[in-house]
Amino acid sequence: MSESYDIGLGNYDVSTRKSAESDYVGFWENQAKNLHWSSIWEKTLDWNPPFAKWFVGGKLNASYNALDVHQKEKSDKPAILWEGENGDSRILTYREMLIEVQKFANVLKSLNVKKGDRVTIYLPMIPELPISMLACSRIGATHTVVFSGFSATSIRDRIDDSKSKVVITADGGYRRGSIVKLKEVVDEAIQDFDFVKNVIVFERTKTKIAINEKDKLWNDLMNNASDICEPEPLDSLHPLYILYTSGTTGKPKGVLHGTGGYLTHLYSTFKWAFDIKDSDVFFCTADIGWVTGHSYVVYAPLLHGATEVMYEGAPDFPDASRMWNLIQKYKVTIFYTTPTALRMFMKFGDDMPNSFDLSSIRLLGTVGEPINPEVWKWYYKIIGKEKCPIIDTWWQTETGGMLISPLPGLETIPLKPGSGTRPIPGLLISVVDENGIELPANTKGFLVIKNPWPGMLLTLWGDDEKYKNVYWSKYPNCYYAGDYAIKDEDGYFWLLGRADDVLKIAGHRIGTAELESCIVSHDDIAESAVCGIPDEVKGEVIIVFAVLKENVEKNPDVLEKELISKIRTDIGSIATPKQIYFVSKLPKTRSGKIMRRLLKAIANNEHIGDVSTLEDGAAVTEIQTAFEELGKSIKEK
Ligand code: ATP
Ligand code: MG
Repeated sequence: MSESYDIGLGNYDVSTRKSAESDYVGFWENQAKNLHWSSIWEKTLDWNPPFAKWFVGGKLNASYNALDVHQKEKSDKPAILWEGENGDSRILTYREMLIEVQKFANVLKSLNVKKGDRVTIYLPMIPELPISMLACSRIGATHTVVFSGFSATSIRDRIDDSKSKVVITADGGYRRGSIVKLKEVVDEAIQDFDFVKNVIVFERTKTKIAINEKDKLWNDLMNNASDICEPEPLDSLHPLYILYTSGTTGKPKGVLHGTGGYLTHLYSTFKWAFDIKDSDVFFCTADIGWVTGHSYVVYAPLLHGATEVMYEGAPDFPDASRMWNLIQKYKVTIFYTTPTALRMFMKFGDDMPNSFDLSSIRLLGTVGEPINPEVWKWYYKIIGKEKCPIIDTWWQTETGGMLISPLPGLETIPLKPGSGTRPIPGLLISVVDENGIELPANTKGFLVIKNPWPGMLLTLWGDDEKYKNVYWSKYPNCYYAGDYAIKDEDGYFWLLGRADDVLKIAGHRIGTAELESCIVSHDDIAESAVCGIPDEVKGEVIIVFAVLKENVEKNPDVLEKELISKIRTDIGSIATPKQIYFVSKLPKTRSGKIMRRLLKAIANNEHIGDVSTLEDGAAVTEIQTAFEELGKSIKEK
């Protein structure tokens, strides 16, 4: 765990951390001045736990800060370099983005969308998605983006919960070479929803669609729209958006974010973490349907007037080299992706990335799950050519932006593969035990946040009680993140998986991430998920699921023995699994995260709960079959 890499960008700004330590409120107040406000706040923070109000009385507009502020110096600079899955491409400059956003804001107004109304956006990864979001923010409508891979039931639940007046969708979107018929899904979802007044349809694929009474075509509306729409000055606390979480641990929660605090958090973290420069080409592979896309595809890069690549389709279409191809083609300098994508790329070996020119890259990032040290090292060596810092960014939909991450734009500190290093300035994060007592270094416990931060969620949409219960009831006045972690002797944080997923074996606590990282570090293994099932003697025993790399043909019994011996050496015999299964895929959320709770539920013969965000039902069937076989073999014994 102590292995470290001395790589950075040579930035040493000690004053930022210092001023944050002495007065975090004053510190964020200074950060907020990087934005354009039409009225300055009267109070920087009104902290009435668990409700934080940042920049009370201040007024600003998100779309103004993303677009208008760049018109003097950067109007011809590309904001978005877009590539469709089918090879289509478009470039939108800051000027063009502003024109489109103003026109679409007028379209929304013409459909009677008013400040505070909700608008559901169910679009593929096309420029019309950020344009719609910014148009909403221009007039003060609250957007709620639903990932375009969701089914009618999932989108229905979200439209119902947010009571959206308008839904924006497309005739279809390209995904792995076929067309996903989004409009059909919307039709099914809103059938009896009288509160939905209009559906706006962008024609992306030109597939035939039914045009119903409520439907309007994007282009028809835009043709008649004026390209001047003054931005509405909005309260700092005005709800910018509702976004539902990934649903890794249960039913997705409707997280509500405000405007002033959220944008301040994004502006600062984007600068510190990515060291953004005018010449950079930024590429974040996240879908805008998730928080990473909201924060670090839409708002943060645009606040900085950056140029970014936006890609429509699957990362492995037509094959697993698509991302390397995009990096080479657009000369990407900063690349931000997920451990799950990296494990997929790794599975195909080094030759694939090695056959592309990736020399433009200067900084790499990862988010979404703990990154296995083995995967980190591959990313560092094969993609970064041992010259790029990797920022492992820990955060949540609820936190709005990064909270733990190396910050190469601010300081150069040694990196440790698998650790997100330290909290961002202005934040007090601890690891505590069941009773909230701070634990000594290198002791596993629960991650908590002890002071409010500007990107913090305002509440859960329409449910303050649930907001209090989920995040603030376990420990008084402390935000409970639900993640399991340790802080090492250097003050670096290691995220070890969901607190609910922790394995308790004969009194020992083992994080799922620790064990999975050990398994993935075996040469033949691409991915792994572990879970515990009850055992009368040990409390719990461990079951391992592993996916092999491409073209591995080793005898499973041999591989099993190798893995067990590896686990015994690396972690200890306490972690020896009861059973190892080799499967072709793991159950994941549509955002790519492993749903360990599902494995556990299946193993315990329990109801599998809300699986609306599950990517592929086939993975579940495979695991169910494996457990049935396990059940049989136990009986036979
Ligand atoms: P739900 O809350 O509905 O169960 P979710 O927590 O997966 O879904 P997100 O907000 O998208 O929804 O994910 C946040 C979680 O992702 C974190 O709590 C953490 O468990 C995990 N995570 C994100 N980034 C990292 C990282 N760099 N290292 C480790 N874990 C991470
Ligand atoms: Mg969560």
